[in-house]
Amino acid sequence: ITFASLGLAPEVLKAVVAQGYETPTAIQAEAIPVILAGKDVLGAAQTGTGKTAAFTLPILTRIIRHANHSASPARHPIRALILTPTRELADQVYANVATYSKGTGLRSHVVYGGVDVKAQQPALREGIEVLVATPGRLLDHIQQKSINLSQVEILVLDEADRMLDMGFILDIQNIFNLCTNRKQTLLFSATFAPEIIKLSKQFMHEPVKIEI
Ligand code: AMP
Repeated sequence: ITFASLGLAPEVLKAVVAQGYETPTAIQAEAIPVILAGKDVLGAAQTGTGKTAAFTLPILTRIIRHANHSASPARHPIRALILTPTRELADQVYANVATYSKGTGLRSHVVYGGVDVKAQQPALREGIEVLVATPGRLLDHIQQKSINLSQVEILVLDEADRMLDMGFILDIQNIFNLCTNRKQTLLFSATFAPEIIKLSKQFMHEPVKIEI
């Protein structure tokens, strides 16, 4: 299997080549075609397996291919939201998103707690297509109307088991309900614990299970 055969957009493929990646990892080979097909994914994969690129590369490709035709007043509405449990992981995922989206013209940003909310607002006002966020701070921004999730089509929960362990379940349910235009959900977790299965039954549509 090669990256070129996976169906990614040329701009995205270019970024992969620029990173020096030669072959897709197992999770990438399995997940990328499924995500490109618009299906929900329930993925069991640890950090270090290449899972960040496994969801980011097809998400960027889908956003490039499918223009947003809604009557949204925002010029760059948020179309993909990636939730992570901690600011460290948020930063790490955001660095990946920024790298892979370099040649795409898509904008991305990251928000997490521990930083002044107001300081994060100007970048958000310019409009972004991909947002990486921790749940609590995301809800703060929504309350302050600096973030609107009504145009989010793809929602990713990264390290979902850790988010639940940290007590984010109500925040997560809240966020799911605010993504009123959600079309695709990708949930990654180290294990398929009962609470993860419960969450997937509540919010996902016939998810494809991928275990590495
Ligand atoms: P992750 O599991 O997403 O944290 O990725 C682990 C590391 O693997 C990151 O430093 C990536 O840059 C790198 N990586 C991801 N995909 C590939 C690939 N196909 N070939 C080589 N390195 C990769």
